[in-house]
Amino acid sequence: MNIEKIRKDFPILHQEVNGKPLIYFDNAATSQKPQSVIDALTHYYNTDNANIHRGIHTLAERSTTAFENTRKAVAEFLNSNEVEEIIFTKGTTEGINLVAATYGRKFIGEGDEIIISGLEHHSNIVPWQILCEEKGSVLKVIPVNDKGELIMEEYDKLLSDKTKLVSVNYISNALGTINPVKEIIDKAHGVGAKVLIDAAQAAPHATLDVQGLDCDFMAFSAHKVYGPTGVGALYGKRALLEAMPPYQGGGEMIKDVSFSGTTYNDIPYKFEAGTPNIGEVIALKAALDYVSELGLENIAAYEHELLEYATELLSEVEGFQAIGTADNKASVISFLIDGVHPFDLGQILDAKGIAVRTGHHCAQPLMERFEIEGTVRASFSVYNTKEEIKTFVEALKSAIKMFK
Ligand code: PMP
Repeated sequence: MNIEKIRKDFPILHQEVNGKPLIYFDNAATSQKPQSVIDALTHYYNTDNANIHRGIHTLAERSTTAFENTRKAVAEFLNSNEVEEIIFTKGTTEGINLVAATYGRKFIGEGDEIIISGLEHHSNIVPWQILCEEKGSVLKVIPVNDKGELIMEEYDKLLSDKTKLVSVNYISNALGTINPVKEIIDKAHGVGAKVLIDAAQAAPHATLDVQGLDCDFMAFSAHKVYGPTGVGALYGKRALLEAMPPYQGGGEMIKDVSFSGTTYNDIPYKFEAGTPNIGEVIALKAALDYVSELGLENIAAYEHELLEYATELLSEVEGFQAIGTADNKASVISFLIDGVHPFDLGQILDAKGIAVRTGHHCAQPLMERFEIEGTVRASFSVYNTKEEIKTFVEALKSAIKMFK
């Protein structure tokens, strides 16, 4: 991989922040966008902008074709069997909420159990809490060990014929832990439960394969995989999507509307009420094309090199304490420095042009598990370099000196 060439594809990287060259290590919050994605977005607004599906004029046809081409690209990216199994959403959060509000409301009832894990993002906790509150269902949580891994023996104990749904992330955005999702899915299916995989953090770092995994649902966000904000996709198995009631009512999701009754559109349109983020969906294809050109396996291998290098350098920093030391980890280092508040470190690093995230990373129960309020999180992407990591560690050391 030619990292210097890759870096040239990302215009935002070539700037100074607070008088220093930008070092962007906040990729687990959102990734930067290559020029091809920015171009796809501006091309759409400059030349093709029209509402999709209903128009017969040329612009409407162009935008509809480009929009539906992204659906094909997402189907390929997730290795789904059918293009109709791909629903466009605002992102992972909406994908999970959609499943909770439709599949959950229809198929999960009083006393039924939903299993999530202690590693989840709030967006894979709160929708289930809302559902459980409404239906009298019970939320169970797979606990996390001191390394930030799921305790699979405890998962085995939680599973029963009461389990209706298991919803876990593939990779934790807070710690980087890669979860054994295939095993989780197979075991859930063993008791007849359905499984949703939150692939928000996995999409830019791991090859996704919904057929190989045999998951029932999978959600991801475009913005974490070099695409625009405000769009994402939900995969669902055809039979499930067809059995689920609609999510929102409005245009596009209907076949016929009359005051005596309305019939709903076929999937995926049944779940796509209203005018979507057309330009952003179209630009998502450019992002997926970019990833497939580089090769996700190449990206993951390079990021792993960065992770190992950073882990090694950081382990020599005075007072460094890693939060999350899973054997199987991707691209994220969450840590604390003895006696220094994460927020203070984040501010000092920012003054040196280095963007890291500090806080609970939308995973407050996980922070509670480690009896901390938050961490400093450095998360790497394909355009980051070992030189940047070296600069970051030196900046960290000098920040620590200031506090000691
Ligand atoms: N789950 C995980 C694991 C995530 O990393 C994120 C985003 N940080 C989300 C869910 C929510 O994604 P979004 O805000 O794009 O809907």
